[in-house]
Amino acid sequence: MTNDVSPREGAPQRLSRMIQLPTVSAELETRGVAPFEAFTALLEELYPLIHDRLERERVTDFGLLFRWPGECPEADPAVLMAHYDVVPVDETDPWSFPPFEGRIEGGFVYGRGALDDKGPLLVLLEAVENLLSAGFTPKRDVYLSLGGNEETFGDAAERIADTLHARGITPWIVLDEGGAVTDATLPFVTGIAAMVGVGEKGIATVRLSARSEGGHASVPPPLTAVGRVSRAVSRLTPGTFPARAPKAIPRMLGLLAPRSRGTGRRLYRLLAAWPWLNARVFAALGGEAAAMVRTTVAPTRLSGGTANNVLPSQASATVNLRLALGETVQSTVRTLRRRIADERIDIQVLEGNDASPESPSHGPQFGLIAEAVRSSHPEAVTVPYVTMAATDSRYFHRYCPHTYRFAPLMMNAEQRASIHGVDERVEIAELERGERFHRTLIEGLPA
Ligand SMILES: [Zn+2]
Repeated sequence: MTNDVSPREGAPQRLSRMIQLPTVSAELETRGVAPFEAFTALLEELYPLIHDRLERERVTDFGLLFRWPGECPEADPAVLMAHYDVVPVDETDPWSFPPFEGRIEGGFVYGRGALDDKGPLLVLLEAVENLLSAGFTPKRDVYLSLGGNEETFGDAAERIADTLHARGITPWIVLDEGGAVTDATLPFVTGIAAMVGVGEKGIATVRLSARSEGGHASVPPPLTAVGRVSRAVSRLTPGTFPARAPKAIPRMLGLLAPRSRGTGRRLYRLLAAWPWLNARVFAALGGEAAAMVRTTVAPTRLSGGTANNVLPSQASATVNLRLALGETVQSTVRTLRRRIADERIDIQVLEGNDASPESPSHGPQFGLIAEAVRSSHPEAVTVPYVTMAATDSRYFHRYCPHTYRFAPLMMNAEQRASIHGVDERVEIAELERGERFHRTLIEGLPA
């Protein structure tokens, strides 16, 4: 690491000011664009060197793209991402401090967005500003891609990804939110781990519907529309989609085994050696473990019929699916059709996003992330895993095979629960570590 970099004071106060701007993308209609415009202006005030030395462009009203020219502009760049919009707050929730006050107390900065994703955005900008003030130039171009509508599935990040792609740019690495440094990774594992998402699941919401002749319920056909839809839903068991372990899973187990106690150590070693076995074991465990190795199916709504004694002329069910790595919306619908095996059930896709392919858990890009973690969180082991939620990086994985999801901040279980919840807060010491992570990462970019 460059020794002549001395991080600028006041990062917690800067984060507090970011939190004070209620950039709630889901409440754009009522709050207007003012908080977003104010946020862009605030960045300009807080990060003068970034705005002076980097090229900046607006991509849509909600996307900010900065380019930091490197020593070798022909080399594929790094794209470092974060989003500055936040989710709404339920006014009835018992927050310790008002969620948009940005209170600094007891070694923490409180407020909506502290962890998701203004804290991670801040540590990235701090690192770049500090490096600029030390006169550092990266070996290759560094892009900062900041989106203002991630939480509402807006298109800012998509348009940024398309813009770079259209310019013939294939990033050497893309890094966005997703994983974090965390305790309690798996049962039996002691200590902390930096969980780096090497892939993210996709999503599909489909409607299954059926029509039938109406009429009086006293003379019913063998199967009414309601009966047909229920039968289809009942065929969608957890086993509808096969379990397959992404390469990251045995690698994760192999890395966590030495840090596990007794039974865990033996179990994880065994599973790491037999990938086909861990797909089965994870699927059998259910919950989050099962969700990592297969497409999950959750029927969420049912409707049909108009009266208690009238045959329904139509019925429908909504099913929410989370697609396993490598699966597409199309391949998922094909499997559903086969499984339901009923031509009179119509399947309509309401929304969908393909799952990502899997980025490698070894090699120079993953190695650079691990190196940066060693400098920010020396006691953590860097481990690949699969991100369950969607991130803005999904627009890059289509053409960048090295897309990773990781925010370099320690979050314990309680803090993770505060994301999209109550008393969201980030530890001030973590802001310092996060800055060091990005600084090491940028300095370590190879020529
Ligand atoms: Zn987020």
